[in-house]
Amino acid sequence: MRHLTALLLASTIAGSAAAQDAAPAISPAAMRAHVEFLADDALEGRDAGTRGYDIAARYVASRFDALGLKPGTLGGWYQTVRFQTARVDSAKPAAITIGGTRFDNGGDVAMAPDGRFPDQKVDGAAVFVGYGLEAPGQGYDDYRGLDLKGKFAVMLGGVPEGLPSELAASLGAEKVKVAMAKGAIGVLTIPTEAMLKRYPWARAKASVGTPRQRVIEPDGQPNLPAPGIRASGFVTGAALDALFAGSGTTPADVLAAAAKPGARVRGRALKPAISFAASNIVTTFQSPNVIGVLPGSDPTLTREYVLLTAHLDHDGIKPDAKGDDKIMNGAMDNAAGVATMLEAARAFIDSGKPPKRSVMFVALTSEEDGLLGSDYLARHPAVPTGARVVADVNLDMPVLLYKLDDVVAFGAEHSTVGEAAARAAAKVGLTLSPDFMPEENVFVRSDHYSFVKQGVPSVMLATGVKNNGAQLFKDFLAKTYHTPADQPSLPFNWDSSARFAAVNYEIARDLADAPQAPRWYVGSPFGDQFAKDQPKAPRPVAK
Ligand SMILES: [Zn+2]
Repeated sequence: MRHLTALLLASTIAGSAAAQDAAPAISPAAMRAHVEFLADDALEGRDAGTRGYDIAARYVASRFDALGLKPGTLGGWYQTVRFQTARVDSAKPAAITIGGTRFDNGGDVAMAPDGRFPDQKVDGAAVFVGYGLEAPGQGYDDYRGLDLKGKFAVMLGGVPEGLPSELAASLGAEKVKVAMAKGAIGVLTIPTEAMLKRYPWARAKASVGTPRQRVIEPDGQPNLPAPGIRASGFVTGAALDALFAGSGTTPADVLAAAAKPGARVRGRALKPAISFAASNIVTTFQSPNVIGVLPGSDPTLTREYVLLTAHLDHDGIKPDAKGDDKIMNGAMDNAAGVATMLEAARAFIDSGKPPKRSVMFVALTSEEDGLLGSDYLARHPAVPTGARVVADVNLDMPVLLYKLDDVVAFGAEHSTVGEAAARAAAKVGLTLSPDFMPEENVFVRSDHYSFVKQGVPSVMLATGVKNNGAQLFKDFLAKTYHTPADQPSLPFNWDSSARFAAVNYEIARDLADAPQAPRWYVGSPFGDQFAKDQPKAPRPVAK
């Protein structure tokens, strides 16, 4: 039954698309076939470093091969990434001693593992630094007058309420780097009331044995955002009281001040000395990004690469998942995105017309463990010397459950890639809708952000808000996202999936053939922060 319907839909799509613009048809059946393979139980949730992921990678490489793409690296389809996994050894003592009182890991402190130190011991004085923000433009200068050299920075988690959400996220991501730049050797974070509401301490405690993954660089060292920080963890309850003993203020007063919108919480030196001691268990594994390239036909523009990326990994098998099904199939997240990327690649081939710029199609590893595969590719782009990446269009978890009449490009308001997204949507007969859930900070939460951090204008394309789409998206996030229920038996709308893939083909085509590479808009905080020296484009005037 399903097959018949899909075939029928395929011919409808082919007919309407051909009438409009002669764009290559995308088959709903092909989309379904990719998703049903990649999200099959046999692949056991495609966790990076497992056999299930490696089979998925082989599948993508085979599809690239069959399409006639060029292998993305000298060694073939795979850009191998090495990873380190570290966790605190729970069989050995692990504690933070504050002014002579010992607080065991998993009680009122939660210590983060650090794979560099099998035996980790860090001692120092402590300084409270408020939220630990340095954003002079926004009036935050939390380190002013404080000496952090060789000390622990004690900071409130997150950022104050009331900052624009994307700015808040990017500032939040820089906090540990700022602490390091000030000379700190450790960071102890105080969970705020707002944080504890979303993520209760009981859960933080329960997660103290959770492993943490890092990319291992070609030089053999783990890639760390702030390598000078040699110890980090969370502090609450009696441990927090001990930290503030004799400081002239109390944790309760500090937390009350921190809860006010736009809070500016003054820092101060703390009295007790800190001793951080734990043992870490370290293992390594490797997992590939899978890369296929369609070389550009223009002799100059061929050195500019447009990326279409989708993470291939998901969460593997989760023994503690509710119910009998423990396999995290990740059908929407992100077999659907990979299928979209594969069919956009096929559309380029079927068009019979090579792009002017080179287009690189990538199935990324280890997104779920912290955007690690994309971060590696963004820092080690698999392009020839003298070539560069000019745009990334990322696909992560399109919610393909309803009739698609529009798409959303997260980050569209920051660069001219948004204009390309609007043109691409129009070509397929859809519209481009604005971000409908700014509070979720989607722009900093998936792989495109790894490229943004390297100055590359990027968007994440997602399914739209029309036909109850916004509500269905939020329901999916609340109920199905990151559970074993994200599987091929969901009521997929394969017709919509083909239209969605068509938009992705059109945006990549637009970016690849445009006379000028995309640019950040004047005044975009991301362009200003990560692409200082690049020329900017004026924002289009609203009509
Ligand atoms: Zn996910």
